[in-house]
Amino acid sequence: MAGLNFWVALFLIVLVADLVQYFTHRAYHEVPLLWRLHAVHHSVKSMDWMAGSRQHILELLITRTLVLAPIYVLGFSKEVIDAHIIIVGFLAVFNHCKVNVRLGPLRYVIVTPNFHHWHHRQDQEALDKTYAAHFAFLDYLFGTAVKSQRAWPSDYGVLGDYVSDGFFRQLKFPFVWKG
Ligand SMILES: [Zn+2]
Ligand SMILES: [Zn+2]
Repeated sequence: MAGLNFWVALFLIVLVADLVQYFTHRAYHEVPLLWRLHAVHHSVKSMDWMAGSRQHILELLITRTLVLAPIYVLGFSKEVIDAHIIIVGFLAVFNHCKVNVRLGPLRYVIVTPNFHHWHHRQDQEALDKTYAAHFAFLDYLFGTAVKSQRAWPSDYGVLGDYVSDGFFRQLKFPFVWKG
């Protein structure tokens, strides 16, 4: 990968990272033990630029390790990895902001705040859907996209609202929850 044109390599690194992130994120929703960690991210009830930072420290460590491992093994150049980290950092904040981004047909390709907000919706219709972080087409490909015509969902949070409030209580939550 190190010898590739910068832009080709940048596309590939985002694709590889997003494929790993898609299946990791899906596992966080579908494996009950992992959901204990990920429920903390979903406990946020008002979406803003800080919402993406609400994550259990163990989820952060597991996900970043799994995403970075293939990137290192594939041998992307330092410049491409640096650019990728800037994109990931920016989009993790931006896609939780309430900024309306309507991309026309490109919304089937790229994740926008509108797309990720549906992932945080607090009801059955949007439960366990829209997992991609950058490439929305992965959700269309794997059948997990929410196809609503509305720009935004109405309520955010965990269905049943059982995650405790407070930093230390949320840190403890995965280990004490009897769900
Ligand atoms: Zn999630
Ligand atoms: Zn999120």
